[in-house]
Amino acid sequence: MSWFCDVELGPPIEVFALTKQCTEDTFEQKVNLGVGAYRTNEGKPWVLPVVRAAEKALANDETLNKEYLPVLGIDAFSSAATRMLLGEESPALVENRAFGVQTLSGTGALRVGAEFLARNLGKTVFYYSSPTWENHKLVFKNGGFLEGREYRYWSEKTRGLDIDGFLEDLRNAPEGAVIILHACAHNPTGCDPTEEQWRQIAEVVKERKLFPFFDSAYQGFASGDLIKDAATVRYFVQQGFELFCAQSFAKNFGLYNERVGNLTVVLNNAELVAPVKSQITLVIRGMYSNPPSHGARIVSYVLSNPDLYNQWRDNIRTMSSRIIEMRKKLREALEVLGTPGDWTHITNQIGMFSYTGLNEIQSLHMVKKHHVYMLRSGRISMCGLTPSNVDYVAKAIYETLT
Ligand code: PLP
Repeated sequence: MSWFCDVELGPPIEVFALTKQCTEDTFEQKVNLGVGAYRTNEGKPWVLPVVRAAEKALANDETLNKEYLPVLGIDAFSSAATRMLLGEESPALVENRAFGVQTLSGTGALRVGAEFLARNLGKTVFYYSSPTWENHKLVFKNGGFLEGREYRYWSEKTRGLDIDGFLEDLRNAPEGAVIILHACAHNPTGCDPTEEQWRQIAEVVKERKLFPFFDSAYQGFASGDLIKDAATVRYFVQQGFELFCAQSFAKNFGLYNERVGNLTVVLNNAELVAPVKSQITLVIRGMYSNPPSHGARIVSYVLSNPDLYNQWRDNIRTMSSRIIEMRKKLREALEVLGTPGDWTHITNQIGMFSYTGLNEIQSLHMVKKHHVYMLRSGRISMCGLTPSNVDYVAKAIYETLT
């Protein structure tokens, strides 16, 4: 007899299970298009040169030690991250009604934000796009939310945004509901609203008194331009919204396993900063007490040094242009083969992922027959494509669809 007899086996996490399966596969031409991590043209993980440089400098800095950080992390880091998101001139920063909190990457920012909203504002309902990053539901439920509801997002038919469905679902949301919005490079579809559509979305969010919780996991990584990728969040701030934004430095700094993130909080009154900060402090204190320093020190060091900052922007452009190039190559290869269907969505989509339009049976066939590892939803990570495997992947798609 054990206390644990009734514990049921949980479902595997698809993306991690897929990577394991791929690693164990001995087929030479196998391709991993599952995992959301950058790869070079040679298919290798990349530690950004600017990160290496910062690590070397920090390793030699004898003034740094391993004492605990404050509960809210490194101030210089969180304020640099918040400025990077909102822009130096942001009205919220000028009026001292925005601040940042260091978190355990983007996931940690979502989790801390969700728990604060559930605990301190009594929020119970959250909305997420259909489809969304698979972890949103678990994170918000574990954060204390009672009910997650979908808003329509992706249209199978047009392989693009279902803006009418999106707006209608927001219009029917109860007052005060929390709406998770992808700041840019929507995961998994790679399909973002246009500026005009964001304007319509903001109007409904305002009208229905909903609370926008942005998820920004790809700033700079999506288009290569930090300002462009933050434009939507900045627009909402200009419109006077109070909001949360979870920022991840996993992709744009390649710091996946260092867990570097920031929760940006925008309020409409500077007097609210102290009480809100104090309650977030209690949420974190009771969750993991205080964050680690290594990754946040790297980011902080780079963001505060103009020369390194410029190098980082070059590194970001290297990553985003390689992905854009791979989109072009994949589409071209599919078209040259005469693969059935229209493939313009591959180059219209943005960011790390592409929703290919392949259904579950076809996606499983890609894995089984061709050793091309992709999610059942038809999502592929563009980072796994290289000049040497893109033709192989295109042929596999062609064979699957004909
Ligand atoms: N949100 C979205 C939309 C993502 O795609 C990811 C990572 O894939 C995250 C959040 C969180 O990532 P991390 O916790 O590694 O920063």
